[in-house]
Amino acid sequence: MAVPSTRVPRRVLREFHPCDTTVNVGPIKIGQGQLTLIAGPCAVENEEQLLPLAQRLAESGAHLLRGGAYKPRTSPYDFQGLGEPALRLLARAREQTGLPIVTEAVDEASLERVVEYADVVQIGARNMHNFALLKRAGRCGRPVFLKRGFSATLEDLLLAAEYVLDAGNPDVILCERGIRTFSDHSRFTLDLAILPRLAELSHLPVFVDPSHASGRASSVAPLALAAVAAGADGVMLEVHPEPERALSDGVQSLRPDQFPALAAELTDLACRVRRMREAVS
Ligand code: PEP
Ligand code: MN
Repeated sequence: MAVPSTRVPRRVLREFHPCDTTVNVGPIKIGQGQLTLIAGPCAVENEEQLLPLAQRLAESGAHLLRGGAYKPRTSPYDFQGLGEPALRLLARAREQTGLPIVTEAVDEASLERVVEYADVVQIGARNMHNFALLKRAGRCGRPVFLKRGFSATLEDLLLAAEYVLDAGNPDVILCERGIRTFSDHSRFTLDLAILPRLAELSHLPVFVDPSHASGRASSVAPLALAAVAAGADGVMLEVHPEPERALSDGVQSLRPDQFPALAAELTDLACRVRRMREAVS
């Protein structure tokens, strides 16, 4: 094998850390066998959008609230996020609901702001290869939710996580969110085959984001269920009170009334999957 030893990830691997990593976010234990659900809008838009939605999500099975304050948009003409006012709204939503906040840092300047408010810092697909940002995230004192780049291999993803771990932060959650392939029937191609390989190789918890992977609300539930069946530790779902009026990613966003039943089904399936695995192990 022609991979030079300096490129082989270490701290991410089970051989260096045999037990599963649990990431504690307040009372929530991510990666300890219980399914964790992160839900919320693509972007924080205003108080009327966020606060009632956060309340409904908290009452119907969400464990953490997501919402972008800084949006890494493919086009410079698309909504870029409200910045710090959005972080303040997220903090109010947390105060009212108790839900910890997951929100994205898009560069080193936004990371400074995000760590003041967020419980978990998201590094998005477009920044998975931003090594300066990964190193800073490794020193930020918050768990990091690291999404797989569109064309990142399993090794690329593990090495990106290695940057964070190597900088001193053991709390990394990986997220499969779809990759670019020739398929054009969905926004990206959800690569569930990475889940069992990641579980074999790494001790880090792994989430799946079927919203960004599919780009279509009607595909979200089946892919979320498939992700849980394949062993995901958690699922990230975009939910918007009025998807047709969303400033970003409305087409893939669930309505709040679709969330409770899906959350219950996913939780129930996760219990059955765990029992089945225990029975065969
Ligand atoms: C997001 O979760 O808001 C996001 C932009 O996702 P991704 O980085 O996976 O595209
Ligand atoms: Mn989005």
